[in-house]
Amino acid sequence: MDKDCNCIKGFIEVQYKEIEKRMVKGKEICIENWYTGSRFCPVCEPKRAHIQDTSNTSEELGQRLRELSLYKQAENYNKQETNKTRIL
Ligand SMILES: [Zn+2]
Repeated sequence: MDKDCNCIKGFIEVQYKEIEKRMVKGKEICIENWYTGSRFCPVCEPKRAHIQDTSNTSEELGQRLRELSLYKQAENYNKQETNKTRIL
């Protein structure tokens, strides 16, 4: 099946720029930093890509991704519980 994307295992490599403000000898200067990063593929990882798009900081992103995986774990746990109930 053809995918509508060029991701590698759900990730797309991107180059992005961050402006860092520093105080040097009492003056504020801006430093341009270029990073190579990976973004979640919106086709293969729509939930994670959405979280990445709507997070303002990497801390917020990390927190929300953890919550997403915790939610998934809870879902699995509930399924296991349901199975147990059925067996009993
Ligand atoms: Zn993809």
